[in-house]
Amino acid sequence: MQLIIFGPPGVGKGTQAKLLSKKFNIAHISTGDILREAIERRTELGLKVKSVIENGGLVPSDIMADIIDEVLHSNRCRNGFILDGYPRTVNQAKKLDEILTTLPESSAKIISLTAEDSVIVNRLSNRRFCVNCNHIISLSEIVDEDICPNCGVSGTLTKRKDDEPEVIQQRLDVYKEKTVPVLKYYTGKTNVISIDATRKVEEISQSILEKLK
Ligand code: AMP
Repeated sequence: MQLIIFGPPGVGKGTQAKLLSKKFNIAHISTGDILREAIERRTELGLKVKSVIENGGLVPSDIMADIIDEVLHSNRCRNGFILDGYPRTVNQAKKLDEILTTLPESSAKIISLTAEDSVIVNRLSNRRFCVNCNHIISLSEIVDEDICPNCGVSGTLTKRKDDEPEVIQQRLDVYKEKTVPVLKYYTGKTNVISIDATRKVEEISQSILEKLK
């Protein structure tokens, strides 16, 4: 199974992608996670992309294409994958089409999560993530501010630098200008499933599964 989860930053792509990855036993490929890990490990890639990410911009498409090409051909993806955060531009979507033709099977479906800007800004401002296990959580769900409820480690919950208010606005602007056209590119060409993402996690997940049937 090949899925692409699409939508604005903070709409809940990562949360739904993790659930779908478990449900269908397919790899969750989050380009944001790959890049953040590279920054954390101070690799050559990490050093190249750090400031772009912290300022809410987009990493150059040639760098992203190399990452995606390598990961989709890796053993991890042999049973399928869910792409989260890629493609983010029409050029990237075209590149992905090319890469998919080199895989044994190519039948990607798009899940498009939708929510209004006010919901997005609110979610991103209240979002925290665990540097130990990558769990994403909203402030309102945190009982003890010091302990990650997923892995139980203390002192690991933090706010992403790009979840600061001025960067959130920049990311939304980039999304509207560069990423929204990707949806038009796919419409009529590929199966696009549109899902209202303003509901509870379980309800959204249920809707996705029903529409995927
Ligand atoms: P995300 O975790 O998906 O919100 O991604 C965090 C940041 O990583 C983005 O704001 C971009 O700076 C960068 N990034 C992730 N995926 C891509 C992509 N497909 N193309 C360019 N930049 C990306």
